[in-house]
Amino acid sequence: MSWFFARLVLIIVALAAGSLVGWWAGHEFATPLVAELLGAGTAVGLLTLFDSLRAHRLMEWLRGSQQQAAPRDRGFWGEIGYRVERALRQREHALARERLWLGQFLSAIEASPNGVLILDANDQIQWCNHVAADHFSLDPHRDLQQRITNLVRAPTFVAYLQAADYQEPLLLAGSSRGRGSLSVVVRSYGEGRKLILTVDVTERERADSMRRDFVANVSHEIRTPLTVLAGFIETMDSLPLTEVERRRVLSLMQQQTQRMQTLVADLLTLAQLEGSPRPTSDRWVSLDGLLQRIRSDALALSHGRHRVTVVADTLAELAGVEGELLSGIGNLVSNAVRYTPEGGGIDVHWRLLADGSGELCVADTGPGIAREHLPRLTERFYRVDGSRSRESGGTGLGLSIVKHVAQRHGGALLIESEVGKGSRFKLQFPAARVRAATAEPVSAEHLKA
Ligand code: ADP
Repeated sequence: MSWFFARLVLIIVALAAGSLVGWWAGHEFATPLVAELLGAGTAVGLLTLFDSLRAHRLMEWLRGSQQQAAPRDRGFWGEIGYRVERALRQREHALARERLWLGQFLSAIEASPNGVLILDANDQIQWCNHVAADHFSLDPHRDLQQRITNLVRAPTFVAYLQAADYQEPLLLAGSSRGRGSLSVVVRSYGEGRKLILTVDVTERERADSMRRDFVANVSHEIRTPLTVLAGFIETMDSLPLTEVERRRVLSLMQQQTQRMQTLVADLLTLAQLEGSPRPTSDRWVSLDGLLQRIRSDALALSHGRHRVTVVADTLAELAGVEGELLSGIGNLVSNAVRYTPEGGGIDVHWRLLADGSGELCVADTGPGIAREHLPRLTERFYRVDGSRSRESGGTGLGLSIVKHVAQRHGGALLIESEVGKGSRFKLQFPAARVRAATAEPVSAEHLKA
């Protein structure tokens, strides 16, 4: 209230001073009372004029954008200007702080790998981040204020939103949207508002389906030999067999057991390849040693039915795990031997490519593979001719093991084949995993055992 008393004092002083001056200047021309009243009136008039000028300046400032400082008048009007300006500036700062915080908050949601979408009580889109826009094929600006069910028309989604039972997330299958699969979670809040969270589960769904297929395939692969074994056991148990029959049955049982053992061994190899860290590039394996073992394995498998050639252009060492490399190359050579008819040729050839990388090619003169099968050959249990593969002891896992080995060593498996002209399986290793060795290279040897 101090300004009120100051103001009161100012008015009293003005009135007193005005009356005094009026009396002093006018008592000779008019009665003293009239002169005093005239003086006091003039003083109040002047005071009011000053006030009006200051009020006008302040009003002009208030009508404007208040970008400049308020008029710095002294006294009553100056204080009003100062206080209004200070309140305004404080509010502006608070607003700027809120805006900054909101901007940061929205940027954080925008950076989320999941979709976030906000609906009002009428299911109209209030806000969504780019991921949600992408998931639902929305335009994050143009589609604001649109009812979501007009834009996302998948019947399962519309029914889910209308049923208002959001306990379980909704799985929007890829086929219903022409895109990947989505998991949609809805949470209600406020007065009928909804928060929608979306996650792309295409990969997860694919992995689940692969796992289901894998289990079904393994069960199928094991069921056949088991059924055969059970049949033989029953036969031996219920029928009196001659020594010759007994030997034949035992030999067939052994074949089926062998088949299951090979399958389990391949499954374990795959599991180990998938579960262990990538081979480091500081353990060097002699290619010469690898090729010698590959050659003797090929000869043993072939039993002299094929021409087997193993050639290394250069002496080299490969950075990786010897067991894995042996298993990878061994599978290629075993396939070549198993699928190439008697009298055919199998060539294993190592060479350095121009960019320093290395290539091990296993070529055969076998039946070849039709073009349409090539992209799927490395899938687990994919076979061009199932019965032929099984008859020759194949598990359908060989090439997927080879591909894993190649990828774990930073390389790739390339397959070239033409029906009737044989196949070429090329294992390529990056330059960083290939280095020159010092011993003599494996000489070109054409072996026909
Ligand atoms: P499998 O144990 O059946 O041989 P793989 O994964 O090693 O399984 O090979 C997948 C399929 O690719 C085989 O079933 C076979 O049809 C085909 N294949 C692989 N190698 C050859 C080859 N050298 N010549 C012809 N076909 C081959």
